[in-house]
Formats: sequence, structure tokens, C-alpha cells
Amino acid sequence: ARVDEDPPLNQLVAALEENKTLKVGPGKAVVYWMRMEDMRTSDNKALALASGTAQTQGLPLIVLFALTSQEYKIHGRSVRRIDFVLRNLAMLKSEFAALHIPLYIHTHSGRRRDLPEKLLKLLESWNVTQLFANMEYEVDELRRDLTVLEKGRDRTHKVKPTFVHDRCVVEPGMVANKQGKAYSVYTPWSKAWLGIIQSRPDLFDPYPDPDPNDPSIKEHELYGTLFDSPVPTSLEGFICEDAAHMNTIWPAGTKAAMSFLVRFLQTKARSSQCSMDTLPPAVEKAKPKPKAQTRETRLGAYANQRDRADLDSSSRLSPYLSAGVISARECIRHAIAFQGKRDVRYVDLKRDDGAGMWMSEVGWRDFYNHVMAAYPRVSMGRPFQEKYADVRWEVDPALFEAWKQGKTGVPIVDAAMRMLNERGWMHNRLRMITAMYLTKDLMLDWRLGEQYFMSQLIDGDLASNNGGWQWSASTGVDPQPYFRVFNPYTQSEKADPSGDLIRRFVPELKGLSGKAIHDPFSHLDKAAFKKLKYPEPIVDHKLARERVMRRYKNPGDD
Ligand code: FAD
Repeated sequence: ARVDEDPPLNQLVAALEENKTLKVGPGKAVVYWMRMEDMRTSDNKALALASGTAQTQGLPLIVLFALTSQEYKIHGRSVRRIDFVLRNLAMLKSEFAALHIPLYIHTHSGRRRDLPEKLLKLLESWNVTQLFANMEYEVDELRRDLTVLEKGRDRTHKVKPTFVHDRCVVEPGMVANKQGKAYSVYTPWSKAWLGIIQSRPDLFDPYPDPDPNDPSIKEHELYGTLFDSPVPTSLEGFICEDAAHMNTIWPAGTKAAMSFLVRFLQTKARSSQCSMDTLPPAVEKAKPKPKAQTRETRLGAYANQRDRADLDSSSRLSPYLSAGVISARECIRHAIAFQGKRDVRYVDLKRDDGAGMWMSEVGWRDFYNHVMAAYPRVSMGRPFQEKYADVRWEVDPALFEAWKQGKTGVPIVDAAMRMLNERGWMHNRLRMITAMYLTKDLMLDWRLGEQYFMSQLIDGDLASNNGGWQWSASTGVDPQPYFRVFNPYTQSEKADPSGDLIRRFVPELKGLSGKAIHDPFSHLDKAAFKKLKYPEPIVDHKLARERVMRRYKNPGDD
């Protein structure tokens, strides 16, 4: 808990304030240090500041991306996520080249903690003194930036970094309660968050793109070598085995992100369609047109359909938002335009309004980042609700394996887990059902599930994943109370009423419908069930529910 008393974000913000008086010369170029969560050329705050500074000072701009060879180990990120980053990098390389800006990829093979020194030496070799980057709110990343700042200040060749907030619509620290403290419950937080959005439209104004006609960036002695820096296709020893499949269903780049956005904003919602079996239409014009609110579009229908995992009911933008291929600001701008209010002051998060509802979901992303920044212990394996630190978990590798492989005998859980394994993504309702099942029905430690999700997800994101897992395990901020345990069978009827999702991902059950598709063990006779070659439920939900009540009521007891 000590880390919560002086969160690294506060330390970095204070150090930046102190560093304001540090004087550095202009150097020979300006560097924008691109991170894994801001992989776009448009509406990017640090990039806009860096290119603006370069233009004013008549200096060239260099984009630097640092990859450590052990990137997959950081936060347990999946090889799919890393592969997505590399695919986006390859596209960014040419996008920047078209703007006459070199994107230089530094592959760091040493220890992570040596990266700041390595980067400062690189900047020195380019004679760079001004560095711009968007902040990352994870503990190690904040500490790394603090080291860059301190070492940059104390060395002979001084470097002055400017770290800015860009990941969230409203920056961490801005949404505070009357005592000036961070919220830990979503509803009051979201009211305060909305209040800021209604009164500060400047917060979601887009940042200007680099100017392709800026004369200062065209000629530079470093150009040859920097433009030639290669983009790796994989990192040391780690190959994404389903890279081709991932590339088909999650294409890289801003245009792909825009096509998912356009599909969500402008195409008609369907009432029968299995989630994710369609790809968005190709988008020639990268900018979606804002349209007035209509319930016919997917966004309009989101108010009623968002919990339907059997439909293509959500935006599927999470891989793009997690890697920053699209900004959260952009999503909010479209939702606001869609609501069609005459003034931003009247924008709301009403549950019966698709755009309002969607905005509040994007809000959850901000919320979990704010929580991680204010209470960093949650991202370090600690429960937010300390009283549940001693809950006794089962240790049963066979049960865990059955959950991972989608062989629990609970069709909705199995369909969801197989979807995760096959597609690197799951609908939000399915994430909640499978997380609740692991922690409450199987009584396995939420940290195991958190890690497994990260190892498979293409959108794996520390703050949202941890928030979602702790919510489901009832150990987090604003948790589901422990005595409210999802019944996976009734959840199944709500999330997949058509049964299409289960039939799609659990082919053993493709001949079933009605109640039997959701719970074949209870609804079929023994012989018919046996023929399916589908497992019996690995735990009894009723008994498991009683066990979880006992264990949470008296943590530490058996
Ligand atoms: P939409 O419904 O279209 O929502 C738009 C965007 O809002 C999403 O792309 C996402 O950025 C954000 N969002 C929506 N719901 C949430 C939420 N509950 N929490 C935080 N942000 C949200 N999301 C991730 O991006 N990465 C993760 O690693 C992740 N792990 C999760 C683990 C669990 C156990 C749970 C319950 C949720 C997790 N989520 C995670 C949140 C959510 O499930 C996904 O963001 C959502 O399913 C992505 O689909 P979409 O883009 O179609 O969402």
C-alpha cells in the first residue's frame, strides 16, 4: 500500500513542474518518443507538441520507438498484441515517411532498467535536447520516465522531456471528490467526469497533425540512417503463430480503425448475426460522417443490444483503442455528434440512449486508468479491497486447464473461452461471465484469469483487464458484491438468446436449441447427452455458490 501514498504519477507530475526552469539549447532536432499506446499520426498530443516545436524552431522531427526484446514479458502481454504493435509500426513507418519524418526503432536487448540511459545516449548522439512523449500510467513506465527526466537533467548533455496526458479523455487527477481525493466508485466518478466534458469541450478537441509541407524537416544529415531503420517482424524467439488470421480479423492501421468506427456509427444493426463473423466495410475516406441519432444504426441500438454477445453489437474498437491507433477523444467526439445536442453542456450518459451508453463505456476505460494512477497497488497484484486479500482460493490445475480450453461443460463459458483462444477478443458480457465463473464457481484466484486473458487478448490492457477482473472477483473498486454471483446458465440465456454464439464456437452442440443449448446436461436425457461428446459440468453451480459465500464472508477461514 506504500506505493498508493505517493503514486508514481504524482511524483512525475511534481518533477515535471520542478523541471520547468531547466534551460536547454535547441539541439539539432526534436524527438517524439512514441509509445505502445499512442500509435497514430493524427490527434496525438505529444506528436502535435513535438512537431509544433520543431516547426517553430526550424528543426527536423524524429520519431523514436523503443522496443525491448522482452516486450512480451511486460504486463504479460500476448504475442498477438506485440504482433499488432509491429504491424502498426510498419504502417506508421510509411505514414511518417510521407510526412518526411523518420521513424527510428530502437531495439533494446539489455535490462529494462537500462533503457533510460541508452535512450539518453542516443539523443546525445543526435544532439537532441527536447523530447516529447505521452504518459503511460503503469507503475514501471512512470518510474522509467522519472528516471529519464532526472538523468536528462543531471548529465552534461541535458535533455528536457515533456511528458503529457493523452491516453484518456479526461486526465487522471482531474476527476476528484470534494475532499480532492480520487473516486473508487464509478457512478459518482462518471457524474464528475461528464461535468468536465460538458464544461471543457477543449479537452476533446483534436490535436493538429504534423504539417507535410513544413520545410524544416526535409533535409537532415541523419536522414539516411534513420529512415533505413528496419521494423522487426517478430521479437526474439517469439512468433505469433496465428499472425495471418489476426491480420485478417484485426487489420492494422488508422484506416482499419476508422472502418470499425464507421461500421458502428453508420451501418444498420442486425437482429441475427453471430458476433465477429463479419469484417467492417473497406473505408476509402478515412473520416466517418457524423450523423443524427437513429436507433437503426449499431450505435443507436447499443442501448438495447450491448449485452447481446450473439450479435455484432459493440464497436470492436478495443484493439485500436488499446494501441492508440484511434484516440478515445475521437470516439467521444462522434458519440457527442451522434447525440445531436445543440450544445456540449446538454450531452448526457443516459442508459436508454445508445450514444450516451457508449460514451459511458469509453468512460470506464478512463475510470480504470484513473484508478490505476491513484491506487497503483491494484496493478501490482493486490486487491483494491484489502479485506479480501486472504480469501482462500482453490489450487486445481485441472479445473484451470478446463476453463482455459473451454471444456467446463458450461456452454456459454466454453464458447467464450474458445472465442478468446481463436480470436484474441471477447465481448464484454462474455468477459464478465467467464471471469465470474473462474473466480466464483471454480474459486480460482482472479490473478490466474487476469494473466491468462492478457496472454491471449489482442486488446490486452493492464488497467481495463485488472479492473474487469477485480470487478468480477468482487475485490476491486466498485465491485460486484460478493453475494451477487452470476448464474452462468441464466446469463447465457440473456447474452446468447439465439444460441448462435454457442453453436458457432462449440460445434459439439451445433444440433441443439432452446434451453438445451444453454444447459445440455440438465435438459437432455443421459443417452442423448453422452452422444454429444461434450463434458459434464465440472462443478455444481449451487454448491459452488454456497462455497463462495462462506469464503468471502470470513476471508482466511476454510
Ligand atoms: P464497446 O462496447 O464498443 O466499447 C467501446 C470502448 O470502450 C472499448 O473498446 C473499450 O476501450 C472501452 N470499454 C468498454 N467497456 C469497458 C469496460 N468494462 N472497461 C474498460 N473499458 C471499456 N478492455 C480492454 O480494452 N482490454 C482488456 O484487457 C480488457 N479486459 C477485460 C477483462 C474483464 C474481466 C472484463 C470484464 C472487461 C475487460 N475489458 C477490457 C473491457 C471490455 O470488455 C472491452 O473493452 C470490450 O469488450 C471491448 O469491446 P468493444 O471495443 O466492442 O467495446
